[in-house]
Amino acid sequence: MSIEIKDLSYIYLPGTPYEKTALKKINMHIGKGEFIGLIGHTGSGKSTLAQHLNGLLKPTQGSISIDGVSLWEKKKPPADLCRKVGLVFQYPEHQLFAETVYEDVAFGPRNLDIPEAELPSLVRQSLEWVGLSYEEFKDRSPFALSGGQKRRVAMAGVLAMQSDVLVLDEPTAGLDPAGRKEMISLVKQLYQKYDRTVVWISHNMDEIARLVNRLIVMYRGKIYLDGAPRE
Ligand code: ATP
Ligand code: MG
Repeated sequence: MSIEIKDLSYIYLPGTPYEKTALKKINMHIGKGEFIGLIGHTGSGKSTLAQHLNGLLKPTQGSISIDGVSLWEKKKPPADLCRKVGLVFQYPEHQLFAETVYEDVAFGPRNLDIPEAELPSLVRQSLEWVGLSYEEFKDRSPFALSGGQKRRVAMAGVLAMQSDVLVLDEPTAGLDPAGRKEMISLVKQLYQKYDRTVVWISHNMDEIARLVNRLIVMYRGKIYLDGAPRE
């Protein structure tokens, strides 16, 4: 698995009074097994970049390809893109919409045509990965959960698609110190034990500098620094 971003620029609402250039000529290569921290001030373009990685936004200019296939060569990205890149949104309620936690986690794999008979064990495993008990949570409404639990359910939904790359947009936002610690060890585990490539978006350099093996700093839509955290 590898992601290649070439001269990627993105403008929100072009041609309107609200036009905003959010990304300016981004170039980046992400290889298998990397653990990347992506930091930058509010409004620097982190979430916009994250949404390009899994094909939610279409570049205004430039290209993004995964394993040599350009995402936008055809009209839309390949339907099975989420097998390669999974994104947990900055606001996880934006990706929770079913009546039960079970249905929410099963939605992605079902869309990928994973056989119905395999879903219960896949949902169970995904919930267990994020530290939620299947029996306790499967029938609950995703809307009646705490912020940290919602984030875990959104994450389980992404893990259930078994994507190689996990993009986490501020996964510790809104968590208390204990929740933060748990989230960090959970992601560490996913990276080490389950061999995922991880892109962790954060405001907070201290939180992730010791965790990652590459740190990318964005500033006003551009990549300002990209290297080992020590540098
Ligand atoms: P934060 O740390 O606050 O989450 P960010 O680095 O994720 O910030 P983005 O959300 O990518 O920043 O926003 C980049 C720029 O694009 C900002 O100037 C923002 O105001 C603008 N922007 C983001 N989303 C939209 C939108 N839907 N419509 C118009 N402009 C937007
Ligand atoms: Mg953001």
